[in-house]
Amino acid sequence: MANPLDKIKPQVRGLKAYTLRPDRGAVKLNQNENPWGAPEAVRRETLRRLEGRAWSRYPDFVPASLHERLARFAGWRADGVVAGNGSNELIQATLMVTVGEGKRVLISEPTFALYRQVATVLGGEVLSIPLDHELDFDVSALREAIERERPDVTILCSPNNPTGCQIKEDALEELLNVTSGIVVIDEAYFEFSGRTVAPLLERHANLAVFRTFSKAMALAGLRVGYLLAAPELAREVSKAVLPYNLNLFSQTAAEVAVELYDAELRPTVERIVAERERLYKELQNIEGLAPVRSHANFMVVHSSIEPRRVYDELLERFGVLIRDVSGYPMLKNYFRVSVGTPEENDRLLEGLRDIFDGKGTKNL
Ligand SMILES: *Cc1c(COP(=O)(O)O)cnc(C)c1O
Repeated sequence: MANPLDKIKPQVRGLKAYTLRPDRGAVKLNQNENPWGAPEAVRRETLRRLEGRAWSRYPDFVPASLHERLARFAGWRADGVVAGNGSNELIQATLMVTVGEGKRVLISEPTFALYRQVATVLGGEVLSIPLDHELDFDVSALREAIERERPDVTILCSPNNPTGCQIKEDALEELLNVTSGIVVIDEAYFEFSGRTVAPLLERHANLAVFRTFSKAMALAGLRVGYLLAAPELAREVSKAVLPYNLNLFSQTAAEVAVELYDAELRPTVERIVAERERLYKELQNIEGLAPVRSHANFMVVHSSIEPRRVYDELLERFGVLIRDVSGYPMLKNYFRVSVGTPEENDRLLEGLRDIFDGKGTKNL
């Protein structure tokens, strides 16, 4: 009998599916979400605007009003904005219009697993440059790889998930200048870093910047992301985006979130950044742990106890859910924690102090 799986591309058969353990905990520090949730004012105003809108009618073909607000928010032009059903959709669309057999995609690992996944599914060859020993971007190695391998697409996540490192503008500009390919910067966490590479769009037609509403904007459940690029490049990426990708509800909520960002969301970002710095200091004081400085709303922590065990103990004894990243390259002895509310971070610290004082041997 013919095996239908023989029809699946061999490179796809060789991949492990991108998954997340379905565990639940009272304190959820595993997905880098905004711990304060969507502000009441954003939710109320969204529902108000939705009243009277017909659910039976298609949403806008191009969500122009959202694109305009995003352009103003990002300091870029509206015809260079594409909104998507999560930024992951736009990462996929960008790779769909650029990657196929014989195309090369350069990434820096450890990083977000989706880039390798999608590039591989599309038949591209993935070239990977490790972060340096301080878990920072190795810019000279990236530059050499670009000159030697001439990648069609280079994807960098900045601040990088899961390590929190950030590419400097002058380093990025150096890479933009030496490559003949497209450079994608995933800025899913830029709000927490106080910086953005968006000003470089003006001078570099080969740059695309991705952002999301899933983290600082507190709308992960609604699935909205956006891309910033030269209008010519944005138009090409749009060709791989499905019609009506953004539903009426999410589009409306995203517009409201942008409008109310300064009043409602920026203060939560500031609180998260302050908590990140407190958490970093407190973690340094726990013997057996060494946190890594981060520009995002999470950090990786080097652990003298096996990360898997730290994960299990935090969940079972303290109801705290973290991310075990020990399967990532270079991160064998690390776990990642998202920055929560002060109370949530206190709970995490209490759990870790207990586990590391007793060297993790209690009850297990
Ligand atoms: C969370 C995250 C995103 C967001 O993806 P969405 O599809 O917008 O939810 C994108 N890139 C990275 C690196 C992330 O960590």
